[in-house]
Order: sequence, then structure tokens, then C-alpha cells
Amino acid sequence: LSQESQSVLSAYEWVTKLYHHLLRYAKDGKEGYHYLQARGLAEEAIDAFQLGFAPNAKDFTAEFLEKKGFHRQILVKAGLVSLLNDNSVSDRFRGRVIFPIRNHLGKTVAFGGRALGEGQEPKYLNSPESDLFQKGKLLFNFDLARKYIRKEGEAVLFEGYMDVISAYQADVRNVVATMGTSLTEYQAKLLKRYVNTVIICYDGDNAGVEATSKAADLLRTVGCEVKIARLKDGLDPDSFIQKYGKEAFQNEVIKASETFIAFYMRFHRQAYNLNLEGDRIKYIEKMLEQLAMIDSPVEREYYLKELSKEFDISLDTLAGELQTYQSRNG
Ligand code: ATP
Ligand code: MN
Ligand code: MN
Ligand code: MN
Repeated sequence: LSQESQSVLSAYEWVTKLYHHLLRYAKDGKEGYHYLQARGLAEEAIDAFQLGFAPNAKDFTAEFLEKKGFHRQILVKAGLVSLLNDNSVSDRFRGRVIFPIRNHLGKTVAFGGRALGEGQEPKYLNSPESDLFQKGKLLFNFDLARKYIRKEGEAVLFEGYMDVISAYQADVRNVVATMGTSLTEYQAKLLKRYVNTVIICYDGDNAGVEATSKAADLLRTVGCEVKIARLKDGLDPDSFIQKYGKEAFQNEVIKASETFIAFYMRFHRQAYNLNLEGDRIKYIEKMLEQLAMIDSPVEREYYLKELSKEFDISLDTLAGELQTYQSRNG
């Protein structure tokens, strides 16, 4: 690590502690504490994730860090403060709840800051990308989740910070999240190094369903088995847990996650008009193509039978077709 990166890490460590302290114990952080309390977070989770509050002041953070001996250029470089035209400085995070973003070693390498008001833009303000932090290379909470991921042989993938923290509170701990961007090949490979199975549990809105399909393809490409956890009424994991509680989340969402192929069938049904012969054939071909990639003969046969029943095509014919797809895969 360069000298500069080391200084930035050190500044982040101070800031993590400062914001967390303010949220937990100071008058200046009460707003943040109440916000998280209203969202159902208990102190244990607030402490485990070192959640904090950046006070709504012009240069509170800058002054704190300059007193600790950090140079302005480092703070600007770190994305903690910006330099104004009149040569004064201004804090980047003001009046926001702070989510420290840790790398695989548990070091804070960035922050996500959430606005308190609904409709306040941007909802989340993040630290800029740097040598230390690239969104596409990091999974939120990977450092804490790693041992649970190993133990369970499964990882659960979410979209956001609050989903991870709510799941943690609901005693589901093998959980990580991308931070609002599509899953990258780098992240997929990172997961593959630790587990065979990834449960995708994205938001239940349309964007979430689209993103699920993309993430599933990518994870399968790198060799993961994929399961899909579905959320009703367009809820996200955090709002589901707040509304229905932890048992419902564990049993009706995570444990009830469906196989990739079941998701895939439903997803593509909506894209085709199965009353049209041409679409019906395309749909069947698409399914066979996917079934050919399934390792388990039992699962393959199960879905083959479903197709056979639904479209009134003999199992022999479908099995024959399946083989041509399988030989294509090598
Ligand atoms: P909350 O529950 O606090 O509203 P969320 O996690 O449900 O947040 P989403 O809109 O579902 O928010 O977005 C998922 C994730 O995408 C967020 O947790 C955050 O990491 C990231 N994100 C969302 N909006 C922004 C933004 N404006 N800038 C940067 N990142 C964002
Ligand atoms: Mn979303
Ligand atoms: Mn969400
Ligand atoms: Mn949410």
C-alpha cells in the first residue's frame, strides 16, 4: 500500500469511530439513532456494523481530522471533504446516517451515507472509488459473512446495506450485498471461491427481477448453483423482515427459495405468448437449453416431465432434443 492509501485508511478508521460514537452517545447524533431505531435496528446491530451519523455541520469532520494531524489533501483525496473556492473546506457527508463499507480484511474503505428524509436526493451518497475501493470488486459484509457462508455452504445475495443488516438481525448471517450496481464477474468469482450455492434475494420490484435474471446467468457461468428467493408485493428483504418478522423471512423466503429453473420458467413465460405456436416452440427450446446445463439427472427429468405434460410432447422426443443441446455443451 502507498503511504497515501495508508493515511486514507487511517482517516477512515477515525471517521468510522467518530460517526459511530456520535450516533450512539452524542446529542449531535440523536437524529441518526432515532432514524435507525424507527427502522427497527437494535443497538447490537448498530454496533456490529459500526453505523454512525455525520452531523449536519459545514466542516465538523474536516476540523476533527485536521486536529488529528491529517493533511487537507489526504482528506480531499479520501473523499471526506471538498475544497471550496474560498479555500475553506466542507464535509462530504452532512446529516446522513453512515454505513462503513469494509473490505475482506474488515478495514473501512468507503462509506455509504443515507439521507434521513424520504425523497431527499441522492438517497445514498457514497465515497468515491479509489485504489482502496471499487464497487464492482467488493461485496458489502463479505468479511463478517465469510465464516457463515463456509458453514452453511450457501451465500445469500442482496441489493443493499439495510437488507444485509436486517437479515443479520433476523439471524441470517451468510449474507452479502452488491451496492446498487449489477453483480460483476469479479464478485461472482469471489463467491464461487467460497460456496457452491448462491441464493439471490433481490428486491421484489421489476428492476429486482430483471437484475435477478442477469445475476443468475453470471453466477451460473462461473459455475455456481443458483437459487432464487422471491419477495411478494414488491418488498425488499429489509421491508419484508420489518413487516412479517424473522421466522417468516427464514422459512418463507430463504428456506423456500426456488431452483433457478423454476424461476427461469416463470420469468420466460411472461416474455412469450404461449397461445402462439411459434412462441411455444421458442419457449420449449429455451427451456431445453437451460435443462441441458443442469447437472442433477433427477432435477432434469423432473422438469422434462413438466414440459412434456404441459405441451403434450412425448418424453422421448424431449429427451432426444435435450441430448443434442447437451452434446453442444460438450
Ligand atoms: P433503503 O431501504 O434505505 O431505502 P435500499 O437498500 O432499499 O435502501 P435501494 O434503492 O433498493 O435502496 O438500492 C439498493 C442499494 O443501492 C442501496 O443499499 C445502496 O447501496 C445503493 N444505492 C441506492 N441508491 C443510491 C444512490 N443514489 N447512490 C449510490 N448508491 C445507491
Ligand atoms: Mn431496488
Ligand atoms: Mn431496496
Ligand atoms: Mn430498503
